[in-house]
Amino acid sequence: MNPTGTTALILSVVAVLCVGSPSSPQRAVAQVPAPPTATPPTTTPANAAPSADAENSNESPDTAAPPLDGEDGRELSVRLFTPRPQLIVPRSDIRRARFPVVDVHTHFFYKLRHNQQALDDYLAAMDRNGIQVSVSLDGRLGDQLDSHMNFLWREHRNRFVIFANIDWQGEGRAEDPASWACQRPGFGERTAEQLADAVAKGVSGLKVFKLLGLGYRDADGSLLQIDDPRWDPIWAACGRLGIPVLIHSGDPAAFFEPVDRYNERWEELSRHPDWSFHGPQFPSLQEVLAARNRVVARHPQTQFIAAHIGSSEHDLATAAQWLDQYPNLHLDIASRINELGRQPTTARKFLIRYADRVLLGTDGPWPEQRLLIYWRFLETADDAFDYSEKTPPPQGLWQIHGLELPDDVLRKIYHQNAAKLIPGIAERLSALGVPHDPN
Ligand SMILES: [Zn+2]
Repeated sequence: MNPTGTTALILSVVAVLCVGSPSSPQRAVAQVPAPPTATPPTTTPANAAPSADAENSNESPDTAAPPLDGEDGRELSVRLFTPRPQLIVPRSDIRRARFPVVDVHTHFFYKLRHNQQALDDYLAAMDRNGIQVSVSLDGRLGDQLDSHMNFLWREHRNRFVIFANIDWQGEGRAEDPASWACQRPGFGERTAEQLADAVAKGVSGLKVFKLLGLGYRDADGSLLQIDDPRWDPIWAACGRLGIPVLIHSGDPAAFFEPVDRYNERWEELSRHPDWSFHGPQFPSLQEVLAARNRVVARHPQTQFIAAHIGSSEHDLATAAQWLDQYPNLHLDIASRINELGRQPTTARKFLIRYADRVLLGTDGPWPEQRLLIYWRFLETADDAFDYSEKTPPPQGLWQIHGLELPDDVLRKIYHQNAAKLIPGIAERLSALGVPHDPN
């Protein structure tokens, strides 16, 4: 397998929630300023190929420069470069996961907005794909938690598990961080009590969004720190309550680099300049991840699932060091098959070695095509295929290669680790009649 022989593709739009979506309410609260170095989207000539990206269709025909379409000796814009691979290689036809799946990373509020038809449609896709249980990370707290439970559990309690979220803002005003609930003494203890109530109602974990460390502001305007001791009662409570903390910290390494011609995610960042975390107003990725790791180290009785390979998807040797160092640390692979699949030899060794510590997540609900790509990536040895149904590929202009993981590794990543780590999963699998012997 030769990951360097990947094929570049191009064009269009995507809002990947965990890579930062301007439409997400989490993002709206952040008020992260666009970095001064961010490059605005280049305008698209009126006669260019149609694009799904409405942001780029704002040029009037009168002012259109010659199209950078690469024809008749003209230059070619990266936005128009849409090569069709000539490679002829075997193509597996995967229709469903080989073993029962627990998807530990999904967003049933932020993506479905409590739309019943969308939920029914996705349940049908879960059935076709062999996804037995999905973990919704959007439970929040209080009344919002009750309505999310009602949405997912009224008819399908066995198919969904719910994680709560910390309510940092409370009754405070979004634009005034000094007024946020987290600034008042005892916030950690009060949140711990709310979590205990939520667990009594059936909640199975706590999800922490990446805005902790990159978006939420302290009273003095600086960023709230992940390892601020004020939050320690929350992490400790999760350990006592026996629920894992699924924490998203950081983002792809390229998002912390200048948005210039050397940035391997330029195409994506140029369309979403507010996804960049480059500049003096942000910490480095290493600083963010070190703060997260200090929390993991301080709370050995609490199980942590670091989302998206713990934001070390570009550097699996470092992720391996963390797993060796912190026995209470686990990783999910949600929305990172683009990275794992361009280093298939390294990724395969990593997932086999740490098969007990990695969980399947998709960051969905996605169109069904995306689910099929996950199974194809993990189960087959196919070369050079798209990691997304979208054009251009939304997280880097390359293709991926399958890992062909052994069956015992697939079973662990697909459901056995989740059944051990997340309360309520094993019971649901049993109720659904799914064999899930952890051995
Ligand atoms: Zn997510």
